[in-house]
Amino acid sequence: MNTPQGVSPATFATALKAFAQVVGTDWVFSSAEDLGSYRDAYSPLRGLPDERTASAAVAPASAEEVQAVVRIANQHGIPLYPISTGKNLGYGGSAPARSGDVVLDLKRMNRIIEVNDSNHYCIVEPGVSYFDLYAYIQKKGLKVWIDCPDPGWGSLIGNALDHGVGHTASRYRNHFDAHCGMEVVLANGEAVRTGMGALPKAQTWGQFKMGFGPVLDGLFSQSNFGIVTKMGFWLMPEPEAVMTGWVMAPRYEDLHGVVETLKYVENSGLASGAPEMSSPLLGTGTSMEMVKMFFDGPPKLAARHGELVAGAKLGFSPELQRYGLDQQIPYWQLHMTFYGPPKVIEAQWDAVQSLATKAIKDVRFQAGKIHAGPEMKQAADRFEIYPQNIGMPNLEFFGMGTRAGGNPHPMSGHMWFSPVIPQTAEAIFEVNRVFDEAVRTIPALQRVPVLGLRPFALPTVFIERSFMAILGFPVSDDPKMNQALVQAFRELIRVGAEHGWGEYRTPTIFQDQAASVYSYSNHSLLRLQEAIKDAVDPKGILSPGRYGIWPKQLRKRRAA
Ligand SMILES: Cc1cc2nc3c(=O)[nH]c(=O)nc-3n(C[C@H](O)[C@H](O)[C@H](O)COP(=O)(O)OP(=O)(O)OC[C@H]3O[C@@H](n4cnc5c(N)ncnc54)[C@H](O)[C@@H]3O)c2cc1C
Repeated sequence: MNTPQGVSPATFATALKAFAQVVGTDWVFSSAEDLGSYRDAYSPLRGLPDERTASAAVAPASAEEVQAVVRIANQHGIPLYPISTGKNLGYGGSAPARSGDVVLDLKRMNRIIEVNDSNHYCIVEPGVSYFDLYAYIQKKGLKVWIDCPDPGWGSLIGNALDHGVGHTASRYRNHFDAHCGMEVVLANGEAVRTGMGALPKAQTWGQFKMGFGPVLDGLFSQSNFGIVTKMGFWLMPEPEAVMTGWVMAPRYEDLHGVVETLKYVENSGLASGAPEMSSPLLGTGTSMEMVKMFFDGPPKLAARHGELVAGAKLGFSPELQRYGLDQQIPYWQLHMTFYGPPKVIEAQWDAVQSLATKAIKDVRFQAGKIHAGPEMKQAADRFEIYPQNIGMPNLEFFGMGTRAGGNPHPMSGHMWFSPVIPQTAEAIFEVNRVFDEAVRTIPALQRVPVLGLRPFALPTVFIERSFMAILGFPVSDDPKMNQALVQAFRELIRVGAEHGWGEYRTPTIFQDQAASVYSYSNHSLLRLQEAIKDAVDPKGILSPGRYGIWPKQLRKRRAA
């Protein structure tokens, strides 16, 4: 039997027995076969000695059982790694951040405590997936939308705690920001409720985020300070209608006008739907167009068009631009989603058009149909609008890695490199210049494919006010290639940080490095985080090393 690092087999056996007395023997897993499901299916270290694997897993069914398990873990010094549904593929999956730690699997805690479609919020347990909540809302005919990530199989809580993101209105897309109230079990087994949940008779746990006194909720996201057993989320009231509109800009330099339009529209609240940028001229698409490409293959460009794209540098050549102008193929396209009563949508679209007309020379527009009422879902089913834009969960995005019509060479997984960059066109051009040079000149990067960089990387706009320049690293079954990927990823973190671009989230194997570049004033932020760690979890039993935060006794072992 594998044991957690520094724990003797006898102590471990005693702890597992005690866990079983709390959760039942069926819910303590230690056989190699059972633990296989807690391996990170996308790990580039899969099968290698450094792969992060669990020594056991325990699956409690209630917050009280979580408390009892934590008290036992504390008594015996057993490190626990809580997961909600454990679907964090691309960022570590369900494997612990440190090998040997015991996965605390919260999937069985799958109660939807409340969905309020008058005040528009829900309170759920960690095992509730986006599919579960969506099905519940549909079954009861409630008039609220969820906001889900591309794949809908994960949990609201796990996704939000890892700072996950979705696709509806800006207020809901940033999942941690959209939360309201938490229940957290601390390392000593005590349960704490944040916000109005701390006031026993309050009816406002899902309504008023701040409660009274310092807001501590952020301490429990991307950290290892507690185990979240309930969480509230604000939900979007179902709008009357939805419409997509495209702003089409003809020239390379027009990216400035596109970004200025996007910022003003979003930051002023003129339209709240997820904006996306694409380049029809360079053959890159929005999320919906990407899903179509996974299944149907990339757009078939005319031979001359394809040659010009291949010959462009940083996505540009005068000939390519000329070709686009002659053929009326936009260089850039801003895809916007509008919600509300049809008259409001029409007014929003008018306002966007007049703003873009001032910002972009020779701009053109195209509006989709206004889909109202049940027609919204039908349009999403027909894939005329992106289902996630109206909170309909699905798994189509997995087409990016699996064998699909347009994707004959499946990957074994992928990792996202996800730096935050300024929300300006200058930054987009700079990111392309810097990363293009990096992949041409840095040996570790020359050896591996980096997805999304060529012919030109357009960032995503999941979270308001900044961009994320997300690039993909395809994991394969070749250990040598995977090791090269890890090295290359590390190089990109380093290069990004040199330019002030840091990860918003990263696979567990890179968390030490990604945290280390947030180094202002001799790493004062990390030192504060670790002071908190020492205070709330002195034995270091919760997710040691997650997001680069190590308990005192393990700090010397921090990876480079
Ligand atoms: C093709 C593809 C597309 C994707 N697109 C998106 C996307 O659009 N948006 C997006 O956000 N992600 C995306 N992802 C990443 C991932 O699939 C989702 O974020 C997924 O929702 C996370 O899984 P989960 O909800 O099961 O979280 P979990 O795996 O349960 O949790 C994530 C981490 O949070 C911590 N944690 C979880 N629960 C608790 C708890 N109760 N208490 C304390 N700590 C806890 C743990 O450290 C855990 O490892 C994508 C992945 C793939 C493969």
